[in-house]
Amino acid sequence: MKCKNHPQVDTDEVCNECGNAFCDDCLLEIRGKNVCEYCANEIINNYGDEKEKKEQREKEKAEEERLKKIEQQQKVTAAAAARPKPSCLGCGCGTFLLLCAIIIAAATIISLIT
Ligand SMILES: [Zn+2]
Ligand SMILES: [Zn+2]
Repeated sequence: MKCKNHPQVDTDEVCNECGNAFCDDCLLEIRGKNVCEYCANEIINNYGDEKEKKEQREKEKAEEERLKKIEQQQKVTAAAAARPKPSCLGCGCGTFLLLCAIIIAAATIISLIT
């Protein structure tokens, strides 16, 4: 068989759609089929909408997931911000009281010396 586009090229491959003989250079793989350029265009035109819709759906899904991730991140940030900041007065760790005791002790010692 000769390629329909290249009469000088021998081939044993055919377009899965129109059945015409085409060489490797002329055949395209579309949706798992080896088809000629003409049939490839037909397939893309016929199924283009479906393909576009699928791509659109995937885009929307990706966008949704992206927004979800951002929302989650914001939640984590908000939770971190809502967490009370460690402070000696607020946390009851006793550092403030200890500090007071040291100051009082020091003042007492100073007053005893003088
Ligand atoms: Zn074809
Ligand atoms: Zn060819």
